[in-house]
Amino acid sequence: MNSELLAKAAIKLNRSKYTTAFTGAGISVESGIPPFRGEKGLWNKYDPKSLEIDYFYEHPKESWEVIMEIFYDFFGKAKPNRAHEVLAILEQKNLLKSVITQNIDNLHQEAGNTDVIEFHGNSKQLVCTVCRKLYKVGEIKMEPLPVLCPACDSLVKPDFIFFGEGIPPLAYERSVEAAEKSEVMLVIGTTAEVMPAGQIPVLAKSTGATIIEINPEPSMLTRFTTDIFLKGKASEVLDELLNLLEA
Ligand code: NAD
Ligand code: ZN
Repeated sequence: MNSELLAKAAIKLNRSKYTTAFTGAGISVESGIPPFRGEKGLWNKYDPKSLEIDYFYEHPKESWEVIMEIFYDFFGKAKPNRAHEVLAILEQKNLLKSVITQNIDNLHQEAGNTDVIEFHGNSKQLVCTVCRKLYKVGEIKMEPLPVLCPACDSLVKPDFIFFGEGIPPLAYERSVEAAEKSEVMLVIGTTAEVMPAGQIPVLAKSTGATIIEINPEPSMLTRFTTDIFLKGKASEVLDELLNLLEA
């Protein structure tokens, strides 16, 4: 890790009166959840069409079988890693206002962050596609598939957005507001290829924020949007950064 860049990032963070974090699948990789893209990505194993909204309504059973395997049998057991923990510590130290996440794994909340804006929803909650009733995972029967609503017997869907669905309006509004207020935005573990989420750091930058990016690989943002690129794994880089902030 380049210590000069780390020191520069620490100074920016210490001086900032409004810091936010924008996270993607990469921050959860060290919790054992693979990202979508890249060599070990989920799309090398599964067909993304299972998560297309039209396919879900046309083939609910097939779609639910894949969803169950990826998001519940497997994701369900993951625990926050050091990167999630450091973001929670930064909030406690009043060095971080909110986390805008593209992830649906609930790990920021489990680590202790209290203001998590979920751009794509959350897999720990289910919603009835007809009566809109919400259920916590574990609260209703998840077999046989597809999952049906105990209240109205209609199809139930995980409360995260599928390809072809819009961003939850409140999460979108709050993300834009947080981006515009940011003096520093930490961008962690995202390719920024998924739109419109990927525009959030660009918006923050355009309204004056310094963008500090943490990723083992460059992303769509690195060249033109990022101010300080800290190359490395989220847990390691954030831990080193925290040490400098405590000094
Ligand atoms: P992505 O799959 O497009 O990219 C992952 C990024 O993480 C890459 O840039 C990669 O270099 C980086 N990365 C890999 N290991 C890392 C590490 N140890 N530390 C830091 N970075 C690391 O992810 P995305 O940009 O978030 O887009 C994928 C979409 O899929 C998101 O919208 C999200 O909703 C969804 N998704 C969520 C989860 C989850 O909830 N954990 C998992 C997979 C996909
Ligand atoms: Zn219902």
